[in-house]
Amino acid sequence: MKEENKIKIEKALDSLLDNISENMFDCQKFGYYSPFLKFISYKSNKIHRQSRQCIYPTCTKRTIKKSHSIPKSASLNIISENGHVLKPDVDEYGKELKVKINSVGINNASVFPGFCEEHEKLFSIYENDAKIDTYKKVLLQSYRAICREIVVRKNESFVLNQQYREYEKVVERESLKYVSGLLKNHIELDKIKGIKINGGDKLLLSFEKMIKYINKSLVLLEEYSDTIISEITNDTKSSDIIFSALTIDYILPIALCGFANSELQINGSHTEFLLIMNIVPTNKETYIVCATNKKNKKIFDEYIKFHYQHHLSILNMVESFMIFGSDHWFIRPSKWHTLPDDRKEILLADILQSKESFLEMYPLSIFDEARKTFIDIFLRNTKDRKLTNIEKDFISREKTKLSGAYHRRIMGEDELIQTLYKHIE
Ligand SMILES: [Zn+2]
Repeated sequence: MKEENKIKIEKALDSLLDNISENMFDCQKFGYYSPFLKFISYKSNKIHRQSRQCIYPTCTKRTIKKSHSIPKSASLNIISENGHVLKPDVDEYGKELKVKINSVGINNASVFPGFCEEHEKLFSIYENDAKIDTYKKVLLQSYRAICREIVVRKNESFVLNQQYREYEKVVERESLKYVSGLLKNHIELDKIKGIKINGGDKLLLSFEKMIKYINKSLVLLEEYSDTIISEITNDTKSSDIIFSALTIDYILPIALCGFANSELQINGSHTEFLLIMNIVPTNKETYIVCATNKKNKKIFDEYIKFHYQHHLSILNMVESFMIFGSDHWFIRPSKWHTLPDDRKEILLADILQSKESFLEMYPLSIFDEARKTFIDIFLRNTKDRKLTNIEKDFISREKTKLSGAYHRRIMGEDELIQTLYKHIE
């Protein structure tokens, strides 16, 4: 190639990079790329239904299509009405990006393609009574929750990579058009076959960040699952994962099996607190199992100590985790339907729009009946003494949650997408 052509090409490419970094192309405008982001939200909320390889280490068999992550007959059935429960989901068919509550039959609630027929049997020891009352059952239920999270994240990563490649093609097509325009009178165009973009575009960078983030959490989750499964199979207790299991003598009308993390600054250093939570109601009581890795022991101990004080603090922990932590939960239909409409609307909007962590308290009540009962229990247990000012404030706040006197702005779609993918702008 002639030296003078080389210089022209270099100049054109410099100009292209300037344009990309200044978001000058049409495809870099929010209106163009927001459907790509919406699609991720739609897709990544759905667990693929196809059978895949069993997640149990070294097993090569295909999975059954529907492994429950929450015991069906003894737990989901307890909170179901006419065989159905409600669960929040991104509205796949809606024009606007939002979460709605869907009715789901208990045969399909909490299912994911996780285990082959043989390894599905691992969980049969508590499938009939859902009693998570031994260390082994605590391990198994946590293992099941982690495996579901791994499958969900792998699917999410698949969708993201797909969208990355789609959008990359669009940027490269625009880039080629632009450079061709600049050079059309100077060199033979057929010599430029295509342009490969590495970084520079804000959305591609953002996709890369998201993929990196998911892969990082997959590494952590796989470490958890390896540790737990080696404990299960070797019958040895390791100290890498710590658990806390609690039974309350009340049937909470919710089943949850999820994972969340929260970024914290402790003494100036950055820490990620990962928490796996399982809430399993039975016909007499509710089991709550929390797990984390030993690195988080100090925060975990404080979290547990604070929330296990009494029924009301447990309820606060559950409600906060449902909105700020994991949306993988199921609720008894009549309990949901009796909530006031404006409160339901805020609850669902907050699942997508909230920036708070599950360590913070959720300001609205989801379980009014349980809350009223627990306030009564609290007042009964303290009736022989004067309440401290802190306790008085606490009870008054709990009562306020019932009235739902809380105003929260519901974001429009553009703002919501920008909030969800905040590192783009
Ligand atoms: Zn298997």
